[in-house]
Amino acid sequence: MRAQIVAGNWKMNNDLAQTETLIANLKKQEQTSNAEVMIAPTFTNLHKASEVLSEDNIEVIAQNMHFASNGAYTGEISASMLKSIGVNTVILGHSERRAYFNETDELLVQKVDAALKNGMRVIFCFGEELNDRKSGNHEGVVEGQIKNALFHLEADVYKNIVLAYEPVWAIGTGETASPEQAQDMHKFIRKTLADNYGDSVADTVSILYGGSVKPTNAKEIFSKPDVDGGLIGGAALNAEDFFAIVNAF
Ligand code: PEP
Repeated sequence: MRAQIVAGNWKMNNDLAQTETLIANLKKQEQTSNAEVMIAPTFTNLHKASEVLSEDNIEVIAQNMHFASNGAYTGEISASMLKSIGVNTVILGHSERRAYFNETDELLVQKVDAALKNGMRVIFCFGEELNDRKSGNHEGVVEGQIKNALFHLEADVYKNIVLAYEPVWAIGTGETASPEQAQDMHKFIRKTLADNYGDSVADTVSILYGGSVKPTNAKEIFSKPDVDGGLIGGAALNAEDFFAIVNAF
């Protein structure tokens, strides 16, 4: 049985007071599904968030980290720093990191390895651009992103990997992949895993969909057999909307 997960990526939104307000609103929501719930506030608010939520069923996770454990990397944050404030899961490879901060497959290999070495769980993001989809090369692009960043790993570490398929053309655009498009790609991703690692890995890795998931479309997307949850951007900034998505299973 694969874990169902709904993770909210707050991106560069919410100062400390706004973070406390949103968390207070999240605490008021009732969860009726069995999904694991996560939120990813900005670095400056992680410590507060993890303190405030230490007794709750909402895991506080990071949006990014550096591959080195410490040293002359001005402005960066390491895995051990995250772990020291109770953050044990990190999002890596988000398309905004790839596009605006030049994160390459090679860099992501280093980040994934550092996170796993430190006992962290990784939510690894990838997805094709609109051109790739229009030219029919979306599966090839996604396969390359997964193979380049993850296929050096041993099978047993996949218990600490969650995949997040996020078509770039659907992120923050209001345009969502249809439930069928999401299912087709998730099935393809699972087959890619199975071909390399066997069914035991492929059947147990959770694959999330991300890209304009809202309370109005979550139920249909989550009903697909290979979709195990969602990585949520905009709708994660509103407690009622976020929990409507969490409860869409
Ligand atoms: C994201 O940034 O991971 C995302 C899915 O954003 P949105 O839900 O706003 O499209």
